[in-house]
Amino acid sequence: MPQLLLVEDDPAIRSALVRALSERGHGVTTAATGMAGLQAAVDGRPDLVVLDLGLPDVDGSTLLSMLRAVSAVPVIVATARDDEREVVRALDAGADDYIVKPFSAEQLDARIRAVLRRGGASEPAATLVVGGLVVDPRSREATLDGRTLELSRLEFDLLAHLASKSGEVVTKRELLAEVWHQPYGGADKTVDVHLSWLRRKLGETASDPRYLISVRGVGVKLVDPS
Ligand code: CA
Repeated sequence: MPQLLLVEDDPAIRSALVRALSERGHGVTTAATGMAGLQAAVDGRPDLVVLDLGLPDVDGSTLLSMLRAVSAVPVIVATARDDEREVVRALDAGADDYIVKPFSAEQLDARIRAVLRRGGASEPAATLVVGGLVVDPRSREATLDGRTLELSRLEFDLLAHLASKSGEVVTKRELLAEVWHQPYGGADKTVDVHLSWLRRKLGETASDPRYLISVRGVGVKLVDPS
């Protein structure tokens, strides 16, 4: 059953949509504000977000940009007016589709199914190999040159996330969202400390890195040193 997150501040619309979408076979959770929605999108990892652009606490397009910084979840925006500029802004900010209020549950359901079809089913996490490093998210085991790494839960999550994006610079903000589940705020220092522990377990130092390369002022990337 696809899990939807509905971010909508109007209680009447919210409860009507929850009922209609549940009847159509979706699991639905809700948030009444933008910031609660952002947190729920990170914590709950829904398959799709339906985002009302007119929210009390934060502009919908701004929220969408914040969400896009930390998650690739498909998003359908719901806009009150047929305001072309607003729609264009939302699509530019990373929306997958939009729907103009008032809309029927049938129409929203059809758009949800279309967006989910386009995205395809998410693949099971596969074993990640970067040089001599092998990370298996299913067994939660990591080895380096055949030797098992003794990692804490956070260190493993951190390594697995970096390995899934090997060669790419990953920002500390993204790490806070993906590993610590803090989509905003949070301390860079936390990330730095865990990165240095992870680095030590990989048998390297910041001044003489092999796998973990810091990119000053941006973030960090995991690379194949060979
Ligand atoms: Ca609204």
